[in-house]
Amino acid sequence: MSETRDLSYWQARAAALRPQSRAYIGGAWTDAADGATFDTINPATGAVLAKVAACGAADVDRAVAAARQAFEQGVWSGLAPRERKAVLLRLAALIEAHHEELALLETLDMGKPIGDTLAYDIPEAARTFAWYAEAIDKIYGEIAPTGGNVLATITREPLGVVAAVVPWNYPLLMGSWKVAPALAAGNSVILKPAEQSPLTALRLAELAAEAGIPPGVFNVVPGLGAQAGQALGLHPDVDCIAFTGSTATGKRFMEYSGQSNLKRVWLECGGKSPHIVFHDCPDLERAAQAAAIGIFNNQGEICIAGSRLYVQRAIYEPFMEKLEAYAGAMQPGDPLDPSSAMGAIVDARQLDRVMSYVDGGQREGARLRLGGERVRKDTGGYFLQPTIFECPSQSLSIVREEIFGPVLAVTMFDTEDEVVRMANDSPYGLGSGLWTANLSRAHRASRRLRAGLVWVNCYMDGDITVPFGGVKQSGSGRDKSLHALDKYSDLKTTWIRLE
Ligand code: NAD
Repeated sequence: MSETRDLSYWQARAAALRPQSRAYIGGAWTDAADGATFDTINPATGAVLAKVAACGAADVDRAVAAARQAFEQGVWSGLAPRERKAVLLRLAALIEAHHEELALLETLDMGKPIGDTLAYDIPEAARTFAWYAEAIDKIYGEIAPTGGNVLATITREPLGVVAAVVPWNYPLLMGSWKVAPALAAGNSVILKPAEQSPLTALRLAELAAEAGIPPGVFNVVPGLGAQAGQALGLHPDVDCIAFTGSTATGKRFMEYSGQSNLKRVWLECGGKSPHIVFHDCPDLERAAQAAAIGIFNNQGEICIAGSRLYVQRAIYEPFMEKLEAYAGAMQPGDPLDPSSAMGAIVDARQLDRVMSYVDGGQREGARLRLGGERVRKDTGGYFLQPTIFECPSQSLSIVREEIFGPVLAVTMFDTEDEVVRMANDSPYGLGSGLWTANLSRAHRASRRLRAGLVWVNCYMDGDITVPFGGVKQSGSGRDKSLHALDKYSDLKTTWIRLE
């Protein structure tokens, strides 16, 4: 008889975990050169999970040297794509084989429900590695349409050393979206996980070694942003930074690049995504459920969270009642309980930040319609109720700024022109969504929305086949799909005169 995966099962497995806490550089596990560590905590209890190596500039130097050496030796970059494919498929299979352990690590380190890490984060990470593995030996170069006495080839070449700096909201998955295409393209890679959530990145390094990725080709340097992250950004021998995180840090990486070697910088930054429900919405029930999941899933710590909701006047009150019912059902619970719909906010600092917006919203004149209270305080963890504000003005901080927590700002609107104008009135341009049964309106409004992603009659759907990224201050370049490979390869032109 199979074991039941209930709260007590996960608690028992959690108690038995001994997570890896050292850096992985040049194929070896190592402490930081100066012996420094940082605490990674369990946001559901406040307890320290592990003391993790806090890499600094000296460790980053070692990682870059190992990555460069592996690249120049061609132990990975020189393999036939089908050989890289075989190794990356093994890695995908190992992620799948260890999916329960990885899901547990992610849940403990970051506070999201175990049901989500099992159903989404870890399987998606495995699929990402498998997808780029499968793709890479099917990509051809080009021959340019030149005159008859010339052969001009256009080939794709790996960049060299790619550094991926990622956030804490989907630690393994955000890492995988960068590491998988960068490795598939033949680069050496250094991954710097966020200091709040380093544990799955370190486990990934163990699995990568087991899969047969040669020493130096994949390195993990846990550490603080202002130390390890900055050292990677400023390093003269890093060819590319693939970053996901806040817009403020993204701006810093562009500065680091300008101050050093003009390394390529690809940015997946913040968002304040508008989610619009027109009066002719084909299914108010589904739209209300999608609006609730769109902001409260992952505790609202999602870059594409539909954090600005616009509802047309004719359906406003009936829609809000349905939304409240779905939101009210998403109360935070123990992240290790498979029935929890929401978990804990990642740390005390982030909870304080989110609470300051809850207070600010009330001060600035928004009407608190649901939630707004910390709960489960006795656990020592950082839990907040799903929170809904009705907003009389677009100038409120809760409408304009990314909160990155379970706080929804709702505005009533009258016309299509008005709502498109309000939706686009933001420094961000990542996700967006609209619900309408009118085909012309769907096309018209989705063209007018300035965003990298538009969902029509759904929200946050998608898979690895489509590009993911934003416009304006939400970033540049795209993760996922074959387009992600553009970030990790250069085009080389070879012009051959034929005598
Ligand atoms: P963050 O910018 O604070 O940190 C992201 C990464 O950058 C971490 O690894 C951190 O250590 C590092 N970092 C921080 N300060 C640094 C510095 N001065 N120099 C170099 N590196 C530094 O972001 P976060 O709080 O971890 O994540 C939340 C943000 O991520 C939100 O703004 C969210 O919208 C964004 N995000 C965007 C996407 C996307 O695809 N567009 C996806 C997920 C999250």
